[in-house]
Amino acid sequence: MASQHIRVLPVNVANKIAAGEVVERPASVLKELLENAFDAEATHVDVEITAGGRRLIAVSDNGQGMGRDDALLSLERMATSKIRDVDDIEHIDTLGFRGEALAAIASVSRLRLVTCDAEGRPGTEILVAGGTLRDVRDIGAPVGTLIEARDLFFNVPARRKFLRSYQTELSHVRAQFLVHALGHPEAGLTLKVDGRMAYELAGGATLEERIRELFGPGHEDRLRAVRREDPEVKVTGYVGLPELNRADRNEQYLFVNGRATGAPLLAYAIREGYHSLLAKGRHPTVFLFVTLDPGLVDVNVHPTKKEVRFRHPSAVRDAVIAGIRDALQLEPAGGAAGADAIEHADEPLRAAGAESALQIEDLPHARAFKYPRLPVSGAERQPSPGDRPPLAEGTDGAPEGSGGAEPLSAEAADSLGSTPWAWCRVLGQVGSLYVVLETEDGLVLMDPHAAHERVLYERFMKQFQSGRIQTQNLLMPENVELAPKDALRVRKSLDLFKKMGFGIAEFGGDAFVVDCVPSAFTGASMKHLLVEVARHLEEAGGRGGKERWREESITQAACKAAVKARDRLTLEEIERLVIDLARTDMPYTCPHGRPTLILTSFHELNRKFGRE
Ligand code: ADP
Ligand code: MG
Repeated sequence: MASQHIRVLPVNVANKIAAGEVVERPASVLKELLENAFDAEATHVDVEITAGGRRLIAVSDNGQGMGRDDALLSLERMATSKIRDVDDIEHIDTLGFRGEALAAIASVSRLRLVTCDAEGRPGTEILVAGGTLRDVRDIGAPVGTLIEARDLFFNVPARRKFLRSYQTELSHVRAQFLVHALGHPEAGLTLKVDGRMAYELAGGATLEERIRELFGPGHEDRLRAVRREDPEVKVTGYVGLPELNRADRNEQYLFVNGRATGAPLLAYAIREGYHSLLAKGRHPTVFLFVTLDPGLVDVNVHPTKKEVRFRHPSAVRDAVIAGIRDALQLEPAGGAAGADAIEHADEPLRAAGAESALQIEDLPHARAFKYPRLPVSGAERQPSPGDRPPLAEGTDGAPEGSGGAEPLSAEAADSLGSTPWAWCRVLGQVGSLYVVLETEDGLVLMDPHAAHERVLYERFMKQFQSGRIQTQNLLMPENVELAPKDALRVRKSLDLFKKMGFGIAEFGGDAFVVDCVPSAFTGASMKHLLVEVARHLEEAGGRGGKERWREESITQAACKAAVKARDRLTLEEIERLVIDLARTDMPYTCPHGRPTLILTSFHELNRKFGRE
């Protein structure tokens, strides 16, 4: 009757269960082993993997190593040299501290540990299988530690079944290796996969050199250095220009006090840092190192330390946002100023912080009514007194169907979440090129060519993707003679051109005749367009084979050619352009990734003038 039901589990069963938390797959073993190596102050680490890590994961380091007693203890659960009491958890400056990893790995693999410290004693070799100690003996070994974990989950069939394909596991392993290689550019690292050397990274590198080595030359041209030092938080590293965006976060490397980690807060700060530079669902490339007093970070929130928490989240968030925006040379994202400013549309705008509006007597009046505000966000549906009505219909820069300045329906306005400002006005032009605008946030310079390219690009891509390309027949079909190499490239893409709405045919030799173009590109010189396309396709190189990439090349080239063809724009066209640009998905860059707009916020001006 009183039979006992609750039993204490044997140690190795308990370990096996606990292992489930730490060891999910080969890459998690690698993570723990690499963290241990760096905690032991290794300056060189060799990693070897076979069969995606199922057969072998080996990490050998030249760190401090262990004496025999420590080596035996290191395999026990809850055994760590890194903290002594509960208070130490409050300021952890090592990667490990839970004392779980080695015990966990040893309980679900056949583990061999060879280690030797610098005390001049012989090294130690320990063999463990499925958590059971098999052998301990002296062995000659260099100072440092080698751990080989073989046959992962050999004694836990249920877990083994959950391992994915060799390729998938390998890609996780590789990602883990990259993270540590980036986190420790000063260390030399190698990775051998199935007996073949995959990476051989020399130590003593800077982060920049390491990035170049891992991602190839050229990558760093599209990165900007981050250097932000706030009183509590330092943020360094590199962030990619918006053009380096992708659909996943696989190129986001985040480190908090040297630990590769994540935190919802950091993800949010990155999104904010790139505010409106990236379309929804696209993620930038970042290599960010957040450094702060270890007492201000809680690393003990997740068994694999995948996430951390901050004691002062807003300090971290602000530093990351500001670091990114400084690096991309953007001003802080505008606050909620927009909505109020609209209500006073006919007053001259006052820089925030300026006590009273200042008027200069002898200058021609630059009052609001001379430079009417253009509503760009759709938020302003009622034109203010004194404002000109938003642009007259159908200026010639705007083919029909382009989503013009007509007042927007409520849903349409809602979907325009990303418009940079609610209104702006065109003040003039400088350097016979740049357009000077005032918005509620500050002063904006616009490169009209880049802006126009962005507008045409999105206009055409939308039509193309929806399968409704508007085309226009040319009154006079245009004959274009190309250089033989260019002609070859164009010829190869003829079908694609046709699919994209161009009426183009071969005309003998290296000549082509064009009699119809998508309306987005009317006015472009066909010769320019085709030469430009050929150049783009050439740059595409190996990637040129991919149809989607070729479509983009052709579109970008066509936009460029169409814009080049126009060397005069009326004020109305410029106004139109500003509105069209503000309503694109990615108003801040042209399709080639160059900036279209440079904002100097009032906040920034006030700061520069020492007003705040
Ligand atoms: P933790 O890293 O959380 O302390 P581990 O189980 O990963 O726990 O390691 C247990 C202990 O073994 C560490 O605290 C450290 O003293 C020792 N150790 C593990 N790996 C190494 C290594 N590569 N070099 C030197 N010591 C190591
Ligand atoms: Mg550890």
